[in-house]
Amino acid sequence: MKIKSAKYIISSPSVRLCPEATLSEFAFIGRSNVGKSSLINYLTNNGGLAKVSNNPGKTRYINHFLINTDDNSQFYLVDLPGYGYAKVSKTDREKWGAFIEEYILNRTNLKILFVLVDSSIPPQKTDLEFIAWLNYKQINFVVIMTKNDKKKPKEILANLAVFKKEITDLKIKEIEIIPVSSLKKQGIDQVLDLIGIQINEDNHN
Ligand code: GDP
Repeated sequence: MKIKSAKYIISSPSVRLCPEATLSEFAFIGRSNVGKSSLINYLTNNGGLAKVSNNPGKTRYINHFLINTDDNSQFYLVDLPGYGYAKVSKTDREKWGAFIEEYILNRTNLKILFVLVDSSIPPQKTDLEFIAWLNYKQINFVVIMTKNDKKKPKEILANLAVFKKEITDLKIKEIEIIPVSSLKKQGIDQVLDLIGIQINEDNHN
């Protein structure tokens, strides 16, 4: 699968205001500062599409980007608000929870949810709790380990080992994990392959 073009469509403050659920969509979620905007920019080969922000937690909207506008197999990439930002109030976090929960559980055209986890730090409780919840709700998700370049390989592998152990301890099914570095431009082929397989399936249905 190749991304030939990407166009910003809309930022929606609620699921109700998102584009009609006709095209397949692939969403990205993770803790603030995990590297989500950088990854979307890397995937779409567009440095300015998703804002790389130094002010994490500010994005409160569901952002839709239409991919391959001139193609007959268009789809959406969706940038979901970041979670786990310490500086927002508890009420804001609860609001975030309800808003995103509604999207994840009810968005009928959501095909894969990519959950971004920072490979340069040890696994965080918020990530593990969120993954356990997705597993419980039987959501189709894949983990992307971001910033694969940021620490020495040994350290990154150690973080990954702890992550896998925590997942096993939580009795979570075998999950797919894709390491990516947006800085070094490494690792998106696997992400694009997964999207491509899904788009092909859609075209044959
Ligand atoms: P977001 O808040 O999840 O959208 O994260 P951003 O994409 O804004 O990135 C947060 C910070 O991590 C920025 O300073 C980025 O430059 C940095 N970053 C993102 N991706 C990578 C990566 O692959 N490697 C390294 N070393 N830093 C990254």
